[in-house]
Amino acid sequence: NRYVVVKTHVEAMPSLSDFELKSESLKLSVEPGSKDVIVRNLYVSIDPYQLNRMKSNSNSQRSGGFAIGIVLGKEIDAYGLAKVVVSDKEEFAEGDLVVGLISWGEYTKIGSEGILRKLDPMGFPLSYHVGVLGFSGLTAYAGLFEVCKLKPGEKVFVSAACGSVGNLVGQYAKLLGCYVVGSAGTKKKVDLLKEKLGFDDAFNYREEPDLKSTLQRYFPDGIDVYFDNVGAEMQEAAVDVMNRFGRVAVCGVISEYTNTERRAAPNMLDVIYKRIKIQGFLAADHVNILADFISTTAEYLRSGKMIPVEDISEGVESVPTAFMGLFRGDNMGKKIVKIGQE
Ligand code: NDP
Repeated sequence: NRYVVVKTHVEAMPSLSDFELKSESLKLSVEPGSKDVIVRNLYVSIDPYQLNRMKSNSNSQRSGGFAIGIVLGKEIDAYGLAKVVVSDKEEFAEGDLVVGLISWGEYTKIGSEGILRKLDPMGFPLSYHVGVLGFSGLTAYAGLFEVCKLKPGEKVFVSAACGSVGNLVGQYAKLLGCYVVGSAGTKKKVDLLKEKLGFDDAFNYREEPDLKSTLQRYFPDGIDVYFDNVGAEMQEAAVDVMNRFGRVAVCGVISEYTNTERRAAPNMLDVIYKRIKIQGFLAADHVNILADFISTTAEYLRSGKMIPVEDISEGVESVPTAFMGLFRGDNMGKKIVKIGQE
């Protein structure tokens, strides 16, 4: 079994030398009564939050036991899709497809506490269940509809809009009849948002020296909902341009992950007088809407109203490069590594 580990804590931009590909023999059998399951991994999700788990203070940063620190030299758990090889849990049998917490490796041995769900692929390509029909989709859906209570006709701004979560945020909001503008880091991404994904407009934030005036230009009538994937100056500018009773869903602050000095400091007088609601959220808190999210999204996909955007690399050895690419903006849409053939 080959799997990726981190050798040292990563405090800023990750580099190849932070990672190692380990190889170990794994007995493909489970002890009766152990409730262990061994799966062969097919697709793993590459997610920005893993960087926060690699920091030396990862366990002191947050409460609630969410995204706890990665142990150096040990397997890294990650969301993904796999096939059961052997199981001591009665819910799973050899050959079942499952989604849940697997690892950045070829095989994962999952103990009794593991988070695993049997998957009905519903006729979709398997990779969709890691992105558009997986946690990225749920994040976009929950952030817009549960956290922001988005209404038709509202004006929505989303950052990292060509990323995994961001592109879906824009597509859901358009399907509800909202005005949607996204920001992204390259012209190619901006073009994709406008020409293929139906965004009303999009801009390259790297070319905009004054984000507040940029947002004023795109939102002459103000922003009602800001779906924040990046934090820092972009959040400050969005709050400046926000309408009364606007909502900010703080999904992620990726620009702060590689630079711990950066912090969003929105103007609190704006927040008070405009009665703006700024709320952080975790998709993991919204699994109660999973069935609704999956059936709605599956319908949008079948009818061609929603377009999945995937960026797939192959082989477990490509995980570190795929991960590093998230922080350079290499990925277009959902970053996935295909580990094995079905
Ligand atoms: P993406 O697919 O959006 O990949 C990350 C993208 O972020 C890059 O492609 C890049 O695009 C952009 N980016 C990287 N560095 C910077 C920077 N310094 N400033 C601005 N943009 C940057 O990742 P995800 O869709 O998986 O995640 C998006 C956000 O949502 C992250 O912050 C993540 O942590 C968060 N998240 C939160 C969840 C929750 O439950 N709350 C669940 C899943 C994700 P570009 O070319 O535009 O710069």
